[in-house]
Amino acid sequence: MSRKRYDLERIKAIPIATVAADLGFALSPRGTGRCRLPGHPDQRPSFSLRSISNGFSCFGCQRSGSVIDLVMAMDNLDFLAACRWLDDNYLNSISAQPRSRRRPSTIQQTLPVPVQSSSHGMAPEVYGWILDQSPLSASGRAYLQRRAFSAETIAHFRVGQIGDRTSLFRRALSAFGMPRLEEAGLVMQGRYGPLLCLPSNYLLFPFLQDGTVTYLQARRADDGKEYRWFCPAKLLPPPYNLDALAKPGSTITICEGITDVLSAHELGMLPIGLLGAMRNLGTDIIDRLIGRNVAIFADADRSGRSLAKRLSDRLAARGITVVTKQLPPEVNDLNDYLRSRRGIA
Ligand SMILES: [Zn+2]
Repeated sequence: MSRKRYDLERIKAIPIATVAADLGFALSPRGTGRCRLPGHPDQRPSFSLRSISNGFSCFGCQRSGSVIDLVMAMDNLDFLAACRWLDDNYLNSISAQPRSRRRPSTIQQTLPVPVQSSSHGMAPEVYGWILDQSPLSASGRAYLQRRAFSAETIAHFRVGQIGDRTSLFRRALSAFGMPRLEEAGLVMQGRYGPLLCLPSNYLLFPFLQDGTVTYLQARRADDGKEYRWFCPAKLLPPPYNLDALAKPGSTITICEGITDVLSAHELGMLPIGLLGAMRNLGTDIIDRLIGRNVAIFADADRSGRSLAKRLSDRLAARGITVVTKQLPPEVNDLNDYLRSRRGIA
């Protein structure tokens, strides 16, 4: 088996406007807007796309380059990992992998791939400990109830809440030591020294797989728009709620983000959530979808439509029946829909 070669010309020609939208940039039709690259909290539009070269540049943080450079900068990936991500997501060459071959492919063995948190041996123990130390408090429960989530849903997803970040960090350090906390992506450098990357009072959503916590995301417990969520550093989120695959039911629903997964569960579906830029399903997961129907609820924006199209092409190529679901036009996402059904404004 030869080492996978990427067609760099094709990869560099993937429209950068589509990729930027998928990575969370909200740009004007002319391709200008705020920079979203890590480390640049852009207060005014400093970022622009270069349509002729299919590249980008930011006069705030001085970064520029091709569509590959954009993915590398956005997700802290090396060159080959960024090529792989672009190839998987936009060029569909993943379907060239034989369906019957279940063992890890040569590609995965020889190329550095983005680190999935589940491959980090000891991180689940640390994440599980953090969750155990972080019971949901009254403020978090009230927020979740305003989002129309029942006590059953809150318990099912084991939603927690960070208490005091400083004291939790101190206890975590004495339980695990700095190297293990760093390996789990939980340490950030604050102005006065290292900090836990999960802020006080944030809700804590564990990614559960067969009883272990493979990843964590912290989200604001109010409707503020700044710093809405935090994840472990340099680790890409796996799909959320993969345990749904182990449940009986003819249809798996794929949606965007954690809130939509909880909403879909509340509405009686079996949902899996895709998060952030790493919004594709691995071949192992697609294999587990064979024999079921898949419904995709993507956001009604450009990035959501492109996600739905890409995914349904890949799933259809494996013989999986896919239905793309559209929410009523007055509704933004599944949580809006849930709240309108429950009569919560
Ligand atoms: Zn910038």
